[in-house]
Amino acid sequence: MKPFGYVRAGSLREAVAAHAAHPDARYLGGGTNLVDLMKLGVETPATLIDVSRLPLDAVEERPGGGLRVGATARNSDVAAHPLVRTRHPLVSRALLAGASGQLRNVATIGGNLLQRTRCPYFQDVSKACNKRLPGTGCAAREGVHREHAVLGHSAHCIATHPSDLAVALAALDAGIELYGTDGTRTVAATDFHRLPGDHPERDTVIRPGEIVTAVLLPAPAPGAVSLYRKVRDRASYAFALASVAAVLDLDPATGRVRHVALALGGLAHRPWRATTAERALTGAVPDADTVRRAVDAELDGARPLRDNAHKVVLARNLARDALTTLTTLAETARRAP
Ligand code: SF4
Repeated sequence: MKPFGYVRAGSLREAVAAHAAHPDARYLGGGTNLVDLMKLGVETPATLIDVSRLPLDAVEERPGGGLRVGATARNSDVAAHPLVRTRHPLVSRALLAGASGQLRNVATIGGNLLQRTRCPYFQDVSKACNKRLPGTGCAAREGVHREHAVLGHSAHCIATHPSDLAVALAALDAGIELYGTDGTRTVAATDFHRLPGDHPERDTVIRPGEIVTAVLLPAPAPGAVSLYRKVRDRASYAFALASVAAVLDLDPATGRVRHVALALGGLAHRPWRATTAERALTGAVPDADTVRRAVDAELDGARPLRDNAHKVVLARNLARDALTTLTTLAETARRAP
């Protein structure tokens, strides 16, 4: 591993100032992805700024019923937190679907959102990769790509984003709170991660030196039901081939869809908010035909590669099943005396 400097930040202000003084630095949270990439020679920061001990690990109630989840909170602590489990169970389920128990005990919420793709060519410094070294090409395009993107990819990169949490946050219309030299700002979770376009080296819209300080969860709508499901090669511990986070709220009087949010994971460079399907479902009775047509309309835009058309089938079945399950749950609740 290349030698690097180490700074432990005592406050957010100190962390950002240290980054300004060492522009080639990286913030260190749990280190479960960054340190691996440093061992592989993929990440070569001159300095690590340790932010893992900043007092940003609380789960707090916000006015109106929302939650603020601090960025240095550990994935396992957030998944088990009573407020998260009762108000947003899909966040707990998404977190528990990610990584192993040991990793979740160390990995932070901020680091979860900032983890890099697991494209094997990105992790191998002997291979061409526009994300690791812009302008060198994309070895995955003609290589092994059965797990790569089917939506929103570009000529420059076909990688997927690995976070399960990010998919749940996209479905919830959560916010990502950031702190930098210009102060605090909040970015919608749906806008936080980017599609690769001409600049696959940029995973997110975070600015140089900015740090994720919290995730802001909205208050759950009364009567809304939600779920997170994931399909992977290995049940114990693997990244998603396809995943779905869905929220459904039916009008109690008519049974029509009052609100639906559908986010797909494992299919694109960012969580894929299925807005075409959502538009088709909103205001409709979500029977099997309507759900099938809505999901098909969304996935008509998929562009599978030579070896990953199976992911479109997985996503289609997963999304249909999720919406059907939620409809049954919501209908049962609606008809309960
Ligand atoms: Fe690199 Fe993206 Fe191509 Fe993978 S898919 S080799 S991350 S450019």
